[in-house]
Amino acid sequence: MWSPWRGCHKYSEGCRYCYIHKGDSRRGVDTGKIIKTDNFYAPVAKNKLGVYKMKSGQVVYLCFSTDFLIEEADAWRSECWQMIRERSDLHFIFLTKRIERFPDCIPDDWNDGYENVTVGCTIENQDRADYRLSIFRELPVKHKNIICQPLIERVDLEPYLEDVELVVVGGESDKMARPLDYGWVLDIREQCIAHNVHFEFRQCGTHFIKDGKNYTLNVRDLCSQAKKANINF
Ligand code: SF4
Repeated sequence: MWSPWRGCHKYSEGCRYCYIHKGDSRRGVDTGKIIKTDNFYAPVAKNKLGVYKMKSGQVVYLCFSTDFLIEEADAWRSECWQMIRERSDLHFIFLTKRIERFPDCIPDDWNDGYENVTVGCTIENQDRADYRLSIFRELPVKHKNIICQPLIERVDLEPYLEDVELVVVGGESDKMARPLDYGWVLDIREQCIAHNVHFEFRQCGTHFIKDGKNYTLNVRDLCSQAKKANINF
């Protein structure tokens, strides 16, 4: 994990029960304040022997508790790109709900993308899929993922699957969570198979519908239940 800054603003329906906001509110932290963290330079930090602390070959999950493309971080992002360039031996993944900002956030030498960066465009319903993925489809990115989490309705991704490496589906986790229907998950899986795109069912929802029956699941079981379905492709 690499979190060069913290804090975020709710941006669309999928943010309604954001776990970052919930965690911060329990600790009395203001999520709306976007601030640099002490880990800002983590990818290039070295030990006493002058060796990078982040070992070569690792996958680095970037900004998983905020959004890499958030506006308040515009002044800091170019330094991050510099570090990402320096650490071409690491692979960086970031997810974003702000893909429309992407063209304004890339470095001058981005061209058709950095080989060591995967961008995950997050969607939750058809409206956000059509808006964000029609932008995402046109962007020069070497490794593209689509993240449907939390998925809150049936979604047609077929127009947007070209050049996508992986689609991830997951439900919402909260007492008040909107339900995840297993039929929607299987439907996206079929779309992925038809387009030869990898598919991963990452987590069930707190409220889960299967074969017309409603289930309420424990947070701790959401990922293991999804794994048990054994439907990754
Ligand atoms: S964009 Fe992500 S981190 Fe930010 S509020 Fe929405 S769900 Fe939370």
